[in-house]
Amino acid sequence: MGRQVKCPYCERKLDKDESYEYKKRYYHVECFEEWNQEKTHREELLSYVCNLYKMDAPTGMMLKQIKDFQTDYKYKLKGMELALRYFHDTLGNSVVEGAGIGIIPFVYEDAKKHYIQLSKVEESVENTTPKKTRVVEVQSPTFNYTSKIHKIDITSL
Ligand SMILES: [Zn+2]
Repeated sequence: MGRQVKCPYCERKLDKDESYEYKKRYYHVECFEEWNQEKTHREELLSYVCNLYKMDAPTGMMLKQIKDFQTDYKYKLKGMELALRYFHDTLGNSVVEGAGIGIIPFVYEDAKKHYIQLSKVEESVENTTPKKTRVVEVQSPTFNYTSKIHKIDITSL
């Protein structure tokens, strides 16, 4: 048995030889992948929020809201982004000054249903339509979301 190290992500011990080293810290391989994915999803969420509110950086209030939603509701970062996209892009609601991102808990479940539905539609389109006619589908205004969320398992949000 090699030297024991503590994974910074799950805080469990592991054998250093089996760990993934990143910036002098030793992760379980799965933990690193999860951590890395969360990091990406966080960046995507924040960049969407900044774009939405035309800001260079999110406010402290927004960061606190995100943290609270993660702790209190166990929301995923990607799920929050999709909830905001659903509310503003799909439903066409405009941004309310000073409201922050407090809308998320009110639309999270609806957004989830919406995207699950979309991915089912896309699946059935993929299964039944020959490649050539799929060009028509690209014209759909919702296509961008479906292609974007296709990479993640929406049911896990
Ligand atoms: Zn771990």
